[in-house]
Amino acid sequence: MENETVQPKVNPSVPLEENVTFVLPRPLPTALFCVGLALFLGFLSDCSSLLPLNVANIIWQINSLERVFNEASIPMLSFILMLSGVWLNNAVNGTKNKILGWICGLISLVIGVSLLLAVPLYLKNINFAYRIKSEEILNQRKIDKPAPRSELAEKYDASLKELSDTVYRNVLRFGTNGVVMGGALVLLGIFGIRQTRDRADVGFTCVTCGSSKVRLSQMNANEQSLATFTRIHTFRCEDCSRRFRKFSITGKPFPFFF
Ligand SMILES: [Zn+2]
Repeated sequence: MENETVQPKVNPSVPLEENVTFVLPRPLPTALFCVGLALFLGFLSDCSSLLPLNVANIIWQINSLERVFNEASIPMLSFILMLSGVWLNNAVNGTKNKILGWICGLISLVIGVSLLLAVPLYLKNINFAYRIKSEEILNQRKIDKPAPRSELAEKYDASLKELSDTVYRNVLRFGTNGVVMGGALVLLGIFGIRQTRDRADVGFTCVTCGSSKVRLSQMNANEQSLATFTRIHTFRCEDCSRRFRKFSITGKPFPFFF
């Protein structure tokens, strides 16, 4: 990311109008990247306090997941900063730092997917722990046999209510955090990886002339329903007008999201 020149470098392979004309402070992309990286390393070192792993213990699982969900905004923020640094650097220099962008995108994607997968596990565990704990309270109540409306009976009612309130609050707070931050990290990761690809690298090319100027074609009713159910879309080459069908999740001229 370091560059000795003060002015933005003009990339001769890019047409002049695509070269960036505004001047950004040179250290800004590097600073953004470093702050992001520092935040992420801080998050990792914080996670190391969860060691030693005690995966068989449900309570340990719940506590660890709650901590990770609680701090999930930190990796999200750190990847926004790191990727912004990479993208700004690309914009300023008119180049593409593919490896760095790709690595950041991939790590962000992996962490995001892990967070999203951890949410159902967390819900299952907390439901299990809730049942055990409330059974414990009910069993103790059976042993004590408090008289109806006695102080002891009210105490049992209160502790049951507190237990369910706590579970509800935690599920809402940590579960939502996990889903939102996980989703944001996945999107960020996809963006990061997409930015490293040149469209021509992944896009469909014409089956006849090999042109990369391929657009989604006007589709008739049959083609439309084929596209809706199988995601096989009809594309048209802008150079030779050849129409052809290809699988594409989004209907854009490349198979997947990136
Ligand atoms: Zn063609």
